[in-house]
Amino acid sequence: MSSPAKKLKTDVFEDESCISGFIHNVSAVRVGVRNGAKYFNALLQVSREEFRHVVVFAMEKRTAFIQAEKNKSPVKLTRIKRRVSNDGGKFDVQCGKSTELLVVTEVGFSFRESPQSAKKTMSEVKAMAARQQVGTIEVKICHVEVASEMVEIMGAKVETQTCYVQDGTGQVKLQLWAGQIGQVLCGHSYRMRNLSTREYLGSVFLTTTRNTEIVETKEVAGASSFVQFEVEEEQVTTYIGSIVRAEIAVSKKCTKCQAWQLEFNSAVKFHRCQRCKLLQKAEYYQCTASGRVAFLQDNNEMDLTVTNSVISCYLEKEGMRHLLIEGQNVEEHLLTVDTWKVQIQRDVVVKIEKVAETAQSEKPEDKEIAGAMAALESEEM
Ligand SMILES: [Zn+2]
Repeated sequence: MSSPAKKLKTDVFEDESCISGFIHNVSAVRVGVRNGAKYFNALLQVSREEFRHVVVFAMEKRTAFIQAEKNKSPVKLTRIKRRVSNDGGKFDVQCGKSTELLVVTEVGFSFRESPQSAKKTMSEVKAMAARQQVGTIEVKICHVEVASEMVEIMGAKVETQTCYVQDGTGQVKLQLWAGQIGQVLCGHSYRMRNLSTREYLGSVFLTTTRNTEIVETKEVAGASSFVQFEVEEEQVTTYIGSIVRAEIAVSKKCTKCQAWQLEFNSAVKFHRCQRCKLLQKAEYYQCTASGRVAFLQDNNEMDLTVTNSVISCYLEKEGMRHLLIEGQNVEEHLLTVDTWKVQIQRDVVVKIEKVAETAQSEKPEDKEIAGAMAALESEEM
């Protein structure tokens, strides 16, 4: 077919713009924060031990990447660009529209689990440095803190909740974020993928990321003999009273590209996402509500914090999620209901319920009617 000279020339060319290996960890579609460009990430195993970060700016190739990962097919990527890597020395692989993914017969080494997707035990996690990726853990939830917290991230209020996870080697604190809150139950076991480590005061803990997947599993091995894990939490107290002041803010997030919308006019029917630029119905944006209320009980006014999951949970139960379109709708509802039953831990509301008015107002009426009926009956007799 081709002469040896020509083949040599091709090889030189290949060194520059082609790379072979196995595809790992194909990510979801992401949108660049600055320029709004769509891309996805993957890892390319380029030798037995080495992995390179890959960024692909061609959405139509994502299916082929996913297929190659699933089948563990050796591949050759053509017309790639080598970019200086953030983690020094090595290079990252950039693929564009002209890049081709070709399945080849072999690459001279075999498929191997990437360090990023390897399963880690809790004692291994504790020994890791901060800001490292944790591929998979299989754990039992041994404690979920009662109260969640709202923290500000890039101008938006995001909810976070602490829980503790355990396996045969120990337990680690896990920080849950937004959508993952309420997904795990104490005493249940889960397989979690794509977490990350953080460090606080010398101890390592785990945090979920926007790529985290949580799947409930059968009880993890040895769970019955796990050390009983106790976390001392402040007492939860229940009060009955009314809400006299409220300030509830609703943050909106694009469900397509996950961008927080810093400006949002809920009075109009449609809103254009500030990042992905897609025009969408206003109610298609994900709402996160939080704020504070002044709660009055026996002339004692308490300033309380209310988190998104508490508000959402209440509105969901009452079939009033539509109120979330605007903070003032929620505020007005909180002020309109006469009597509330709130459970608080320190000054954070952990549950809010409407006290049924039937209990006080309808009883005397019922009695009156019953009395009148009885009178009527006796008259007739
Ligand atoms: Zn968007």
